[in-house]
Amino acid sequence: MDSKTREHLERQQYRIVGDTGAVKLCHWMRQKLIHGRACYKEEFYGIESHRCLQMTPSVNICNHRCLFCWRYHGMTGFEKTRYPDPEELLEGCVKEQRLLVSGFKGDPRCDPELWKQARIPNQVAISLSGEPTLYPKLGEFIGLCNRKGMTTFLVTNGSVPKALVELDSLPTQLYLTVAAPNEELFDRLCVPQFPRAWDNLRETLELMPSLSTRTVIRHTLVKGWNLGWEEEYAKLDEIARPTFVEPKGYVFVGDSRTRMTVNNMPSHSEVREFSERLATRLSLDVLNESEDSRVVLVGNKNSKLKVRD
Ligand code: SF4
Repeated sequence: MDSKTREHLERQQYRIVGDTGAVKLCHWMRQKLIHGRACYKEEFYGIESHRCLQMTPSVNICNHRCLFCWRYHGMTGFEKTRYPDPEELLEGCVKEQRLLVSGFKGDPRCDPELWKQARIPNQVAISLSGEPTLYPKLGEFIGLCNRKGMTTFLVTNGSVPKALVELDSLPTQLYLTVAAPNEELFDRLCVPQFPRAWDNLRETLELMPSLSTRTVIRHTLVKGWNLGWEEEYAKLDEIARPTFVEPKGYVFVGDSRTRMTVNNMPSHSEVREFSERLATRLSLDVLNESEDSRVVLVGNKNSKLKVRD
């Protein structure tokens, strides 16, 4: 990673591990430790917000340039990158997370028991920035987390189906972002940096039913861009037959503010209405929702929701 990218990321409170790894405290860590409020993933799936390690193996590496992305887009290329080994990556991220969490200890509002637990993450969200399937040791990394008793949530843009096929360990929950109902919108909104990216996304959708893990299709909804087209989204979802679908509203934060306006944020009720129409087409139910995060959970009411027993 070049020094300009590193400085930019560190100014945004990322802690860099090796050449491509990074960790950053999630907004919900503070909310949980100080105010006792949890992220929607705690409510939906039983993930404890204060024990979640939000990290990426590929902070500066992505093959899309989504207009709604809140991350830094000054990617530095990856042909000559030195990737951290899985052990170095996990140990480095946990160490940096502990340092970041240490600042809460002196805050009288922080629950000391939760603070102690926050030092021992038991969930890894592989999603912070960049495209994680471009990290060549992703399967090994997930296997290492799983062996340490940590659940893993992996979020991919679906650009590298081959990488998913080759994963020797699958995440506890695999998210695929589908942010467009058709190729034309996909190319304009997700701005893939390589040809026939839509075909790769379709290939990933086709692959999903064969993966023996919980799967989620995430529809990131940007008002004025990709909100609507429930019929087309339903057809794509039917290919993947995911365990859950999560329609989620775009949030006007980070670097996306240079490409979007606040008017591109749908209200929660718009996300909810989209979700109801989609659920009807898929013969599924609206199982839960979080107004704070403008997200709705769609699935079969008999599905197991919690990731831990
Ligand atoms: S795929 Fe993810 S990291 Fe890459 S540009 Fe899109 S939102 Fe950003």
